[in-house]
Amino acid sequence: MSAEIKKVGFVGLGIMGLPMARNLIKAGFEVKAYNRTSSKADQLAAEGALRAETPGAAAEEVDAIITMVTDTSDVEDVILGKEGIIHRAESGAVVIDMSTISPKATRKMSKALAERGIGMLDAPVSGGDVGAQKGTLTIMVGGREQDYTRALPVFEAMGKTITHVGPSGAGQCTKLCNQVLVAIHLVAVSESLLLAKASGLDLHKTLQVLTGGAANSWSLQNLGPRIVDGDHNPGFMVRLLLKDLRLVMEAAADGDLPLIGASMAQQMFIAVQKMGCGDLGTQSVIRAFEAVSGRTITEPV
Ligand code: NAP
Repeated sequence: MSAEIKKVGFVGLGIMGLPMARNLIKAGFEVKAYNRTSSKADQLAAEGALRAETPGAAAEEVDAIITMVTDTSDVEDVILGKEGIIHRAESGAVVIDMSTISPKATRKMSKALAERGIGMLDAPVSGGDVGAQKGTLTIMVGGREQDYTRALPVFEAMGKTITHVGPSGAGQCTKLCNQVLVAIHLVAVSESLLLAKASGLDLHKTLQVLTGGAANSWSLQNLGPRIVDGDHNPGFMVRLLLKDLRLVMEAAADGDLPLIGASMAQQMFIAVQKMGCGDLGTQSVIRAFEAVSGRTITEPV
């Protein structure tokens, strides 16, 4: 165990986790990786990662352990479960959860880890699969200042905009605010492109103009072209955004706050999931808008 983080355990090599772990290796960290479906770790092992057979094993003899799994219960599993990180991480290590999960559950896990001398940062990300691959993620970090300072070089290997936003749970709260915008922006992009289509405009030209002005957004820039080209591969899956919107609504209920725009967006994503698109990218929400408008982006106007 060294004060400087050199060895990093990594749990969860999905769409986001795999390129993030790869960027850690490129930056010179020694990475010990675990993935539930072990074949997904083959590629990373070929690129220099050590392999671990359980989340706990990934946490042994490392300075920091990153988790990048799906939902709250999955993070609880890999940290607190029978074969979890808490049983094998050394006192003085820091757990960095980069998944998007419940702020409340985060604070509870942070307390349980602290009782064993293990630090915890919640560090959810924004920037999508492209940001994960390019190492340009936005990372919003909650937790103790000293853990944040120590982990900063790790974050710098994976992201560009890195901010310590407050105590434990604050990173997850910030991420939920981010997801309100992500969901509503996609609804706006879908409606705007359908109007463009109905007006007989060239959609690629329309995107070129709109991304240059006040209407620009990450969604318009990155997902607008995928919508126009009919590319609905993930990226970020509909079912994961619905998981985030569930967390958003739980936080809104805790604060007795109506979230009208986000609720409307949530309904459209529920509709597209019902259409069988849960595992497609969030840009596939266009299909729900196509269904209610009776138009398709690709049909002749
Ligand atoms: P993904 O491709 O579905 O990957 C999920 C990973 O978690 C897989 O490696 C999966 O293992 C593992 N996992 C899930 N449940 C587990 C459990 N109970 N025990 C052990 N491993 C488990 O998802 P992703 O897109 O990488 O997203 C990961 C997290 O990042 C989510 O919280 C998501 O909301 C967030 N996020 C995603 C994006 C994006 O654009 N994709 C952007 C920002 C944030 P298997 O391989 O065995 O299934």
